[in-house]
Amino acid sequence: MGHNYTKDAKGQDITLEKVQELFRFLAYGETPEGMIVKYPPKVGPRKAMSIVWFLQEQMDILPDRFEMCVTCKEIYDTYTEGGYNEKTGRHHCDWCAR
Ligand SMILES: [Zn+2]
Repeated sequence: MGHNYTKDAKGQDITLEKVQELFRFLAYGETPEGMIVKYPPKVGPRKAMSIVWFLQEQMDILPDRFEMCVTCKEIYDTYTEGGYNEKTGRHHCDWCAR
């Protein structure tokens, strides 16, 4: 698969895994290993996706290729999988589209 991810401020790829990590932090307060956060957020998947969306659309920080599947509430890469239903305006990962 040909990945051409956008780069972060350090020149590293903003990968699916990184966005999933951010998403789990926002939604469930899960921190990456070795990281301690005194007041972790825990806003749930829908609100977490709103924050990710803001970083994508308003800040142009995160690439907009990443979407949340409405069914399983996981982040997936729309360039490599999933589908968008124009009627419902909903995104699905491959797993849930089956
Ligand atoms: Zn899914």
